[in-house]
Amino acid sequence: MSRYQICRKVTSHLTRALPLLISEEEHKFGIKQQGIPDVYYVPLENGADAIYLRNQDSSIDRILVNIKLCDDTKNLDYLIGSMHHELGHKYSFWLAKSIGNQKIFTRSPVFEEDLGFALVREGIGHYFFFELTKNGKYKNMSGFKDSDWPKDLEDWRSLAEPKRENFRKHLCYFGGYRLVKPIIDGYGRDGIEYLISNPPTSKDLIDLPFYRSKALTCLHKTHRK
Ligand SMILES: [Zn+2]
Repeated sequence: MSRYQICRKVTSHLTRALPLLISEEEHKFGIKQQGIPDVYYVPLENGADAIYLRNQDSSIDRILVNIKLCDDTKNLDYLIGSMHHELGHKYSFWLAKSIGNQKIFTRSPVFEEDLGFALVREGIGHYFFFELTKNGKYKNMSGFKDSDWPKDLEDWRSLAEPKRENFRKHLCYFGGYRLVKPIIDGYGRDGIEYLISNPPTSKDLIDLPFYRSKALTCLHKTHRK
């Protein structure tokens, strides 16, 4: 099969799978996704393959998925997981817009604040990925522990160095997942709203377990009323 045929096959598979993936998310997380996006394939100039989701309810042609395809369909579970990740972005982008606070989808000129945005954004994405992939297949992939967080602000700032880019990504995806999991597990949509509205500040980065327990306490109080 040619590369083009493989990509067409994967694209049509994902198109068929989308309604089911969305209903799994709605059922498991108690959320409501807005509409079913279009799936389309675009070969990139650098030779990679990408699949895009075009959000139908958005006036802009927002790119939500950028999946590098493998050269066969063996990794379909991973691809489906990546689709969930992007649908997590779609949901949180919609929620952010509806509550009038889209800051985590903007760039902050302050490096540490930008990292706080990325932790929440990618953490939510990976929550959708890990929680919904069959048999929790990828859930423990990272083995990320609270003791793996950088220890002080200097340590966080050093992540701006190009040579630390991989660790920075690891933190955003796997650390982000660990950070948001108890919050979304406990409070679903409201937990996501809290994270979008209160992403970790530079000060919070120094003690993220404390940030998480602060979030849980705050949500617990508002939910008792
Ligand atoms: Zn992402």
